[in-house]
Amino acid sequence: MTNSKEHWTKSAWTISIGTAIFSLLLTMVYDYSKEKPILTTVWIMLKWLANLVWTIFNFDLKVWWIIVAVILFLLIIVLIDKFKKVETFKPDFYNYREGKFKRWKWTWSWNWSNSKNAWLISNMKAHCPNCDTPMIGLSTMYGLSFDCPRCDFRANDDQCDEQHKIERIILDNIDRQRAENKNTI
Ligand SMILES: [Zn+2]
Repeated sequence: MTNSKEHWTKSAWTISIGTAIFSLLLTMVYDYSKEKPILTTVWIMLKWLANLVWTIFNFDLKVWWIIVAVILFLLIIVLIDKFKKVETFKPDFYNYREGKFKRWKWTWSWNWSNSKNAWLISNMKAHCPNCDTPMIGLSTMYGLSFDCPRCDFRANDDQCDEQHKIERIILDNIDRQRAENKNTI
């Protein structure tokens, strides 16, 4: 079964048509070149090219070559995928995204910054102590305030957690956790 597929290039049709076209071209090119000897170099190159094409057409195509090619192709895809995963490597603190600090619960996410070459805290939200809804924070020249859009809980100035301090505590918590892990090893 596979024999016929494997040797399709050697089928009677391919060979006869191939030979016919090839000899026709050969004759045409030869006649032309005889008239113009200046084309000798071109003629040699053409002969070389024709030989190459002929060799390729008569190549004994093996099925296992195709299988190996496909496997290699898949392997390259897997390697590229793996490389991508290394690129988006997540640090140990990546899942540390919420915590209860001075007064309220805070949530945040981690974003990689190419310019700073570091993971940065982003999207920080203070949650309402009554209904857990993320509050709307306002920092103006008159002071700091947090509003709950759901239950209208409101906090001003001294009653508020300050975002920059919470951020500092989060980073410090990570440092302390790391120091603790080092000591236990
Ligand atoms: Zn609320």
